[in-house]
Order: sequence, then structure tokens, then C-alpha cells
Amino acid sequence: MTDSLLTLIDRLTEEHRLSLEEYETLLRCRTEETARLLAQRAVAFRQRVYGTDVYVRGLIEFSSFCRNDCLYCGLRRGNAACQRYRLTPEEILDCTDEGYDLGFRTFVLQSGEDGFFTDAVLCPLVAAIKERHPDCAVTLSLGERSRESYQRLFDAGADRYLLRHETADPDHYARLHPPEMSWERRMRCLRDLREIGYQVGCGFMVGSPFQTEAHLARDLKFVEEFRPDMCGIGPFIPHKDTPFRDRPAGTLEMTCYLLSILRLIQPNLLLPATTALGTIHPTGREKGILSGANVVMPNLSPVAVRPKYSLYDNKICTGDESAQCRFCLETRMASIGYRVVTHRGDIIK
Ligand code: SF4
Repeated sequence: MTDSLLTLIDRLTEEHRLSLEEYETLLRCRTEETARLLAQRAVAFRQRVYGTDVYVRGLIEFSSFCRNDCLYCGLRRGNAACQRYRLTPEEILDCTDEGYDLGFRTFVLQSGEDGFFTDAVLCPLVAAIKERHPDCAVTLSLGERSRESYQRLFDAGADRYLLRHETADPDHYARLHPPEMSWERRMRCLRDLREIGYQVGCGFMVGSPFQTEAHLARDLKFVEEFRPDMCGIGPFIPHKDTPFRDRPAGTLEMTCYLLSILRLIQPNLLLPATTALGTIHPTGREKGILSGANVVMPNLSPVAVRPKYSLYDNKICTGDESAQCRFCLETRMASIGYRVVTHRGDIIK
């Protein structure tokens, strides 16, 4: 490793920020040695804030309908082969009850942008979850909505909102999405959510088509400046029924490298070791934790619908019962010296 690269890593460790050009250099100069050093420092920071605790969130994928046509996603409306399903509010509540008994204290309600789930349907559902389980946090991941809708859902009791920005570069965004989708609108949604008072999560794909180190440097700068509570990153994985079917997947190595850098940018950031990471490598989630992540999100959706929520090919954990997923992850985390904890898992400020 050159002296100048080491100086860069030292500055990132001390100041938690770099210039765009410096982030780009750090990404271009990735070697096993730099990755190891960044991971060591990231784990030390995570250890200081969160110890060996790994926060767990119960993911409920409740609708595979989507009005959007994102070019990378298996749920895009143009994919006629996608099997569509929608859980009823009662079925969603049943998932949260089961999750509660398994020790979950955060539920992530995720779907495509499905017009069926208006505020009139969702607000009573969020309120019912909070009423049944007042010690739990509700995270929503429903895509873009109006500020008024975000406000109503917040007033109904939602605590957190995940909305991946996908890429912080508008031109790159335009190459991943159809013309009717707008990067500016995505960014405005994130600002609205923040102003309303949600704990906000953004996120991006690693290795998405057309992505360069310069794009990733912008993602890092965006996180540094926006200071989200959460940041979900996972490797891009192609889906066979999308225009990007033949594109190569993102790599485990680059995703872990970015997890370490993100931890150094913001030591208290909630950083999931994602299912996509577990999909591209059998121990991808463990490697994510050992690179600086501190959250896992096992699936609580009914097993019958899980294969239908097909964002990308070969997604793992589509056949296991919720209890199996929960305990599988607990065992995996224990095997690397970490402990899955069962409280809400709010960010430590
Ligand atoms: S990424 Fe989200 S908004 Fe885009 S098509 Fe997939 S489910 Fe819909």
C-alpha cells in the first residue's frame, strides 16, 4: 500500500470524510491489503458503538405488484412472468404476531409501488401493529409517495422509512430507470421523510450496469452529507426477465469494501448485511458483518409467497419458515462471535 493511500485511510478514520476525488481514489486502489485495513478499522468503530450486537429486523414482503418499470428489478410492471400477490392486512398482522413471538421488535413492511395500498388501507394497519405491539418499531419500504402520505403514515405510528436512492448520480439514475422516473423526485422524497421525523434509510446497488467508481464516490459523498440513519447496500444481481438479464453481478469484495468505508464515514450508521450479499456468497452476510455491517433482515413473509417476491435471480431464504430464518441467522452470527439482539434496534446517536 502506498503512503498516500495510507494517509487517505488515516484521514477517513479521523475525520469521517473525504473529497469526491479521494473517495474515487480509494475505490480505484482497492486491494486485499486496503480492504483488510478498512475492515479492521470499521469493525473497531462498530464495536465501540454497538459492541457485538447485531440488530434484527423482520421483513414482510406484502405485495409484488408495482406500477414502476425499473430496468433492474424482477417486480417491474413490464415483467409479465412475475407472479403477483398481495397479502391482506390481516395476513400482514398475522406475520407480525408470529414475528413478535420469535423475538422480533422491528417489522419492515416492504412492497412494490402498489396502488391498492392507499393511506386508507395502510394507516389503520400501521396503527394496529403499533397497538398490538407497542414496544416494536415499524419500518416502511413502499417507494415514492407524496409528502402528505408520508406524513399520514408517520402520524399513524410508522417510525422508519427505507427508500434506496439507488445511485447519487442523476445521469446514472436515468440509465437504470424509465424516463418517467426522476432522480430529483427520489431525492425530494428522502428530504421529505427526514423533515417529517422518520428515521430514514437510503441505499444503493453495488456493481449496477454502467456504474463507475466515480458514481460510487458520489454515493459515498451523498451518505456523508445526508447522514441517514440507515444505508442498505447490496450487490446488483441480474434477473432473467429484465433488460439487464445478461449484465454481470456486483461483487462480494466491492460490497464489503463499501460497507467498511460507510462505517468509517458514519460510525453509528445502521448497515444491513443484505440478503443479496448472502445470495452471491454462501457466507456473504457473515463477511458483511465482519466488514462493518450491524443489521440482518430475515424474512417473515409466508413461505407460499416468498418465491414470488423475486427482485433478482436465486434469492436465498425463499423456502424456510420464519423461525428457521431467525435461528439460522442467529447461529451464523454466533459462529463469528456476534449476538443477535431482540430490542427495537434504534440508531445510537
Ligand atoms: S425496484 Fe421497487 S419501484 Fe422499481 S420496479 Fe422494483 S419494486 Fe418497483
